[in-house]
Amino acid sequence: MTPFSHKEFDGHEQVVFCHDAESGLKAIIAIHNLYRGPALGGCRMWNYASEDEALTDVLRLSRGMTYKSALAGLPYGGGKSVIIGDPRTMKSPALFRAMGHFVESLGGRYIIAEDVGIGVEDVALMGRETAHVAGTPDGGAGDPSPATAYGVYMGIRAAVKHKLGRDGLSGVTVAVQGLGHVGQQLCRYLAGDGARLIVADINRAAVRAMVEELGAQAVEPDAIYGAAAEVYAPCALGATINDGTIGVLRASIVAGSANNQLAEPRHGAELQQRGVLYAPDYVINAGGVINISHEGPDYDEAKAFAHVALIHDTLAEIFRRAEAAGVPTSEAADRLAEERFLGKRPEHAEAAA
Ligand code: NAD
Repeated sequence: MTPFSHKEFDGHEQVVFCHDAESGLKAIIAIHNLYRGPALGGCRMWNYASEDEALTDVLRLSRGMTYKSALAGLPYGGGKSVIIGDPRTMKSPALFRAMGHFVESLGGRYIIAEDVGIGVEDVALMGRETAHVAGTPDGGAGDPSPATAYGVYMGIRAAVKHKLGRDGLSGVTVAVQGLGHVGQQLCRYLAGDGARLIVADINRAAVRAMVEELGAQAVEPDAIYGAAAEVYAPCALGATINDGTIGVLRASIVAGSANNQLAEPRHGAELQQRGVLYAPDYVINAGGVINISHEGPDYDEAKAFAHVALIHDTLAEIFRRAEAAGVPTSEAADRLAEERFLGKRPEHAEAAA
């Protein structure tokens, strides 16, 4: 297992293995690309079954951040870090301070934030050793979910415009799966724009709240795929576009906040073949990270949300290019991102023109 010959290695600029004997820290920081600016990306703490699994994750996730930041128009490159260990038993102030020390040693090339298994309080501990942290409680931007929901709402508008030729959501039915931090706020934006809602969640109280507050129609969790809606908005789990669901789906648009919506890349092509317009997840769910990029003493919510709203235009451009080139939207998104962090490459411009 060496990074250079690893199957997920994609020209990463730097991969750092970090060890601190005293606190027991074992971590890997991967910097994929610094073309647009310092590498911003969360830190994931996970009880990886092997070191190779941790390396696979950090190489893959850091690459994803390069694409996400590029399409979100952020002045950042892509990076990510993983701490190997059980977040329920292995957390300690010393561990996070040691991690902060390693981040500091990179001199600002990598900016760390929270991710799965890591809370804002852990990032705050890292922040005692380094200034290169984002998303801390005193940063001003706060909970990213409302901004994520707003970005998804704007993305749904772009998809409806492209696919159905309609401005606004009046009379459009959206099936929202998952009524958590993002899902509920998304429902409010959609209802405010005249959309009809069909909702599902395994949490009955969350469903009841949306039925009572917004007049949403509730369905059982498994029935959401076959719901009679124009838009399916996955806001719960990843991999819900899979062999089992793709044939059941009645919506002609898939646009939601969940990460890694396609079980496999081939499902992007299959959606395209079936005439379903897919809003690539990492583009439509970037509102939270865009909002965080505005944090600081001068944080201005209106300015941050205006930036989030640009997700609409980015998606419109991706839809247009995908259609013109006859490629899945997921592929068109990757090519557009690459133009932004690699510089314009003629073969991509030709394919997507
Ligand atoms: P959350 O945990 O607050 O909400 C998830 C909801 O999904 C919960 O209400 C849960 O009960 C429900 N759920 C779980 N399994 C389900 C199932 N089988 N069927 C229906 N509902 C189910 O999470 P969140 O912060 O709202 O994020 C939602 C999704 O968006 C996640 O995939 C997350 O990774 C992604 N995302 C969130 C943000 C953000 O800013 N919060 C940013 C980018 C991506």
